[in-house]
Amino acid sequence: MPEYGPHVHNVYDMPHDAEVVRHGLTEKKSYAEPSREIPVIREVDVVVVGGGPGGCAAAVSAARNGAKTVLLERYGHLGGMATGGLVNIIPNLADIYGSQGIGGFCQEFIDRVKARGGADYPPRESWGKPDAPLVAKYLKANMGHFYVRNNDKGEQVALYTAVIDPEVGKDELAVMAREAGAELLLHTWVVAPILEGNRVVGVLVENKAGRQALLAKVVIDATGDGDLLNFIPTETVEYMRPGSRIAQFGWVYWVCNVDLARFDAFMEGSPEQYRETVGKISAEGGSAFFCRGLLEHQKGVVWVHRLIGSLHQTEPEEMTYIDVNARHTAVKSWELMKKYMPGFEDSFIMLTAPQLGTSGGKRIVGEYYLTEEDMDLDEPYEDTIAIFPDNDRGESSLKHPRTFVPYRALLPKGIQGLLVACRAFSADGEFSEFFNLIPHCMCFGQAAGAAAAIAVKKGIEVRDVPYGELKEALLKGGAILP
Ligand SMILES: Cc1cc2nc3c(=O)[nH]c(=O)nc-3n(C[C@H](O)[C@H](O)[C@H](O)COP(=O)(O)OP(=O)(O)OC[C@H]3O[C@@H](n4cnc5c(N)ncnc54)[C@H](O)[C@@H]3O)c2cc1C
Repeated sequence: MPEYGPHVHNVYDMPHDAEVVRHGLTEKKSYAEPSREIPVIREVDVVVVGGGPGGCAAAVSAARNGAKTVLLERYGHLGGMATGGLVNIIPNLADIYGSQGIGGFCQEFIDRVKARGGADYPPRESWGKPDAPLVAKYLKANMGHFYVRNNDKGEQVALYTAVIDPEVGKDELAVMAREAGAELLLHTWVVAPILEGNRVVGVLVENKAGRQALLAKVVIDATGDGDLLNFIPTETVEYMRPGSRIAQFGWVYWVCNVDLARFDAFMEGSPEQYRETVGKISAEGGSAFFCRGLLEHQKGVVWVHRLIGSLHQTEPEEMTYIDVNARHTAVKSWELMKKYMPGFEDSFIMLTAPQLGTSGGKRIVGEYYLTEEDMDLDEPYEDTIAIFPDNDRGESSLKHPRTFVPYRALLPKGIQGLLVACRAFSADGEFSEFFNLIPHCMCFGQAAGAAAAIAVKKGIEVRDVPYGELKEALLKGGAILP
């Protein structure tokens, strides 16, 4: 079986810090914006800001639980990084021993996409099992990181991880929102929360219709980056360990029309020549790294995930630099692959991710702050909203295969009317490193949406939602809880 060795690895760094020109940060002048009347376009129960994994789950869950809900999204599609970022792998749904931890909205979404031929995952009987052909398939696809782990006997086992077709995913999320009765407003940037004292009562948006306001009893920040937190007097943190997974941009693209049989014949039949070719591509400024698309209907499609270390993932100058330069090296890599690598002769770049990949961002220090120690706790909290299979921490994962998350991790301190249901949930950098992925954010969203609806129905604060009622709503929505 062909295996990728250290000669074909991803480029984790594009040294760039010194090259980014930061005009924005050196300009000292300011401008006093005149106050003006803004039209209020909606008065609803729940406004969800951001249509990524967290926001879609939140909007569907709030609407299904009876709240009049609007979902706001800056782009023209739903799914956030999971679709527009082309990071369409939904991992760690079961632990290394095969026990499922994440169900609910996430499982429903995967099932619905699968029913349309747009998703794939290993059969249930193989989860946590040393299924050699399956393990070999994922290793050959360069997807071992998502699909293969060593169990306590040292055997390589297959994980329950799903892959989705991003286009089917975008459509299915819109279908789910529509069926649930949540209103969608796309192409709409949320620019600030509306605050009355320490209460969030709505948001200001900008779109082609200008600047407008939406009022809501509960606002859910699902922007990924925690955009609303920039304006809210609550404690936040941004620390990311340099070199960690969350301290990086991702620039993703797909190349199609690749003759993988020809590529395999070259790699297996002429290993020395293959290594030389990889070296030549690298020496000329490209990279031969790729993963194989795992969907049956995407034969001949390969994925390239360029990962670039950064501690400034919301800084526009740096985002611009990364987009321009990563695009240049992406096209250059493809040109070199086309020129030198057998199998790539007729290939072309079919898609570059419409959204630049951000992994970190601002986070709340909420009513419960999850830290490294919480990953080793084996007891659930009294307000547990999700069980996360813990597969990425080596020996520690074998000892502590599940991590629990309390509802309090979605509640910012000292603020009413706001829940956070995205990467910006309350956790330190080490906890986020492992648990801010697509399935996790979907769990946050499902819980936040249900809690918001209960709070509105009962006329109480979101922080006072009785856990028993929240648990009941989550179980009704298919969530797996202790
Ligand atoms: C390179 C890379 C690879 C990754 N690979 C995986 C993987 O394989 N599997 C996995 O599970 N996770 C992966 N992740 C992590 C995962 O994609 C994110 O953590 C996850 O998508 C977070 O979901 P979210 O809902 O918090 O935010 P996002 O997915 O970022 O969604 C936020 C949404 O809010 C919208 N939005 C933001 N600001 C505003 C605003 N002001 N107004 C209106 N709308 C706004 C955005 O457009 C977006 O749609 C990867 C991340 C990166 C960068």
